[in-house]
Amino acid sequence: MATFDNTRPLVAAMAVGCAKAALDLTRELLEQAGVVVDYDRPAVTQSAAAAKFLQMEADWEAAHLLMLQAAWMADNRKPNSLEASMAKAKAGRVGSDITLSCVELAGSVGYSETELLEKWARDSKILDIFEGTQQIQQLIVARRVLGLSSTALK
Ligand SMILES: Cc1cc2nc3c(=O)[nH]c(=O)nc-3n(C[C@H](O)[C@H](O)[C@H](O)COP(=O)(O)OP(=O)(O)OC[C@H]3O[C@@H](n4cnc5c(N)ncnc54)[C@H](O)[C@@H]3O)c2cc1C
Repeated sequence: MATFDNTRPLVAAMAVGCAKAALDLTRELLEQAGVVVDYDRPAVTQSAAAAKFLQMEADWEAAHLLMLQAAWMADNRKPNSLEASMAKAKAGRVGSDITLSCVELAGSVGYSETELLEKWARDSKILDIFEGTQQIQQLIVARRVLGLSSTALK
């Protein structure tokens, strides 16, 4: 577990970085198509694409903050098994969701190889799997939160 406490925040960081790249490029592509995300108006009053973008950014921010917390705790030698698993679970799921949604939002450009969106969507799934799958992270979090052993909660 001591190894995972250090490596899971790093994999979460990879997922967060991959998702950020996809978001940045998608914002550019949306702007080129005339869709501008307005932070001064509620999402429900904007286009479906802009509303989706706002929701993805909120998810991304949550994953980013969890990753920073887990990495900071590792750097400062604080026990972080719970936070490392939370960060890995959130970032792994968000990374896959965001990169795939960016492919969808960009339409045929997202699916083609002229941009990197399709590659980032393929790259992101492994970050949800290795260093422990999302399901296993959720199991670890549940055990820690409920104070149950691995025998008691499988
Ligand atoms: C490309 C790639 C590179 C890898 N690189 C490395 C590496 O460098 N070093 C290394 O050590 N390992 C590496 N791995 C292994 C990786 O960490 C494992 O594949 C991953 O942790 C999943 O374990 P598993 O393959 O045994 O899946 P399994 O344990 O067989 O799980 C299969 C599915 O069942 C789910 N599942 C299993 N148990 C439960 C449960 N109790 N509750 C709910 N769901 C459950 C899992 O979440 C998963 O979806 C790599 C894997 C891949 C695909």
